[in-house]
Amino acid sequence: MKILLTEEQIRQGVGHMAQNVARIYADRPLSIIGVLTGSIMVVADLVRRLDMPVRIGFLRASSYRGSATSPGELSINADLLPDVKGRDVLVVDDIFDTGHTMSALLQRLRGMEAASVRSLVLLRKHGRKEVNMEPDHVVFDIPDAFVVGYGLDYEDAYRHLPYVAVLEAEDLALGPPQ
Ligand code: 5GP
Ligand code: MG
Repeated sequence: MKILLTEEQIRQGVGHMAQNVARIYADRPLSIIGVLTGSIMVVADLVRRLDMPVRIGFLRASSYRGSATSPGELSINADLLPDVKGRDVLVVDDIFDTGHTMSALLQRLRGMEAASVRSLVLLRKHGRKEVNMEPDHVVFDIPDAFVVGYGLDYEDAYRHLPYVAVLEAEDLALGPPQ
């Protein structure tokens, strides 16, 4: 595994982002909605650095495997989502890859009478976008590689790592750890 973003780089990046978010949403009723499970670290660190009141909720998005030519259909579970009516919503995910997940989530949330709906991702992968939108806020742009750590998993392993690392061919050959 090769470390791509150290704990310190993440701390700084998330800290700067928290300042931006606090400036943009000052005096607004902000709800941060994290996408499970990958966003837990960035949500936890971001809200602790936000110098303003905020509500926190989560939803789950799972994609069924698509065919080679069409992406899998996305299923959104909003059972854990608090009421967002009249509130400014910031949807937070770990990574923007093809963008299908974020695009579908924003569409869904825009049907819920929120005052505004915007997106924030920890990572945006270079050259992978398949949708007609960009996230509103990106903490780090990264090259096209499979990354783990700081919430991101490989078969549910590695989420606990405090840094972001590129999973290399030999790591994949070993399979996920226990
Ligand atoms: P998208 O819908 O933008 O293609 O994919 C977003 C989802 O795919 C992310 O929320 C994440 O769960 C998963 N994903 C995409 N790229 C990576 C990656 O490099 N590493 C990990 N662990 N998950 C990824
Ligand atoms: Mg995800």
